[in-house]
Amino acid sequence: MTEVFTGNFTQQEPIPEAAIEAAVRIMRSGRLHRYNLLPGEVGEVSSLEAEFAAFTGAKYCLAVASGGYALACALRALGVQPGDKVLTNAFTLAPVPGAIASVGAVPVFVEVTEDLIIDLDDLEAKTGQARVLMLSHMRGHICDMDRLMAICDAAGVRVVEDCAHTMGASWAGVPSGRHGAIGCYSTQTYKHINSGEGGLLVSDDPEVMARAVVLSGSYMLFGRHGAAPPKEMFERIKYETPNISGRMDHLRAAILRIQLADLPAQIRRWNALYTRMEAGLGDTSGLRLVPRPQAEAYVGSSFQFLLPGARPDVVRAFIAACAARGVELKWFGADEPVAFTSRHDSWRYAPPQSLPKTDRVLAGLIDLRLPLTFAEADIDLIARIIRDEWLRYR
Ligand SMILES: *Cc1c(COP(=O)(O)O)cnc(C)c1O
Repeated sequence: MTEVFTGNFTQQEPIPEAAIEAAVRIMRSGRLHRYNLLPGEVGEVSSLEAEFAAFTGAKYCLAVASGGYALACALRALGVQPGDKVLTNAFTLAPVPGAIASVGAVPVFVEVTEDLIIDLDDLEAKTGQARVLMLSHMRGHICDMDRLMAICDAAGVRVVEDCAHTMGASWAGVPSGRHGAIGCYSTQTYKHINSGEGGLLVSDDPEVMARAVVLSGSYMLFGRHGAAPPKEMFERIKYETPNISGRMDHLRAAILRIQLADLPAQIRRWNALYTRMEAGLGDTSGLRLVPRPQAEAYVGSSFQFLLPGARPDVVRAFIAACAARGVELKWFGADEPVAFTSRHDSWRYAPPQSLPKTDRVLAGLIDLRLPLTFAEADIDLIARIIRDEWLRYR
């Protein structure tokens, strides 16, 4: 009998009951806007900022409307101007080059290696072109951050970390988002904590963070923030910085606070699924798993493997066969962008760039989500289906 998987790759867990109760409490109060506070009240958004600052060990934190907004806000806070070039990974999600384009800047793509991390040699060769690197820890793979920071520091390049897939991860014990000048996170439904939409920025730089706070739409109410720089930092900045509204509200913050407290336990569950998938797909001829370095503490919320050198028609047939058995795989080698999956050559607002190494990697790159609604038995079944079909089609 041919086994079929009937689960849903986009089904997240429900919002925890305690978070639902917190959300109802906020709605009953009618005070949803972050600055709509009673005398002496801290509010959910400031509390979330303080808790996320503590979680990452950052001095300052700002909650905003989306991960993409956080990235664009970070670039503005660093003074990126229209026409400036910004370095970024050639392998990332569309909101990353999109954030660069949103400030009128121009993405300069850096190659990716077959371990799905930024190619540090290519980065070193390109640092002369830009003052800022937007480093995407795409799909949770973290490069050698010590070497990356040494390259960028030597070249005077400031680093914004896109931690959409690394909230709760670390490199050599340092939380992801804490190596560069600013760390940006997403709380969109498919990330590690879920408020539908939402984002967070962290930084230790008081001037950069004061700018980010005003940019996010603080009007002149920055004094009501719980994890912002001291008031003096805003004296000049408040006149120079435009208000580009992208605030978070109490409703989302309330449901995120409960989930943030649960995150370490959730990470253990994700990693149990990830390890199970690694075991299920290990030692399959022609199918390469991505090695995870010792220094990297990752969050296994998605899984990638490579089919090095596979012909496109073979990959297409394999993906269709898996889909027919209920296993939804994403392929970064497809000619046309599909749903969340797109490639540097689909982002035609950016100048075309030659990235032969990245193209070779993406041609054989397969990606799947590991939602926490999957049980370990589901993972075993998915792995069996992938393995069977690959061995049939290769
Ligand atoms: C999700 C995501 C973002 C931010 O996306 P939003 O939908 O704007 O929250 C940024 N980078 C990567 C790699 C992502 O996957």
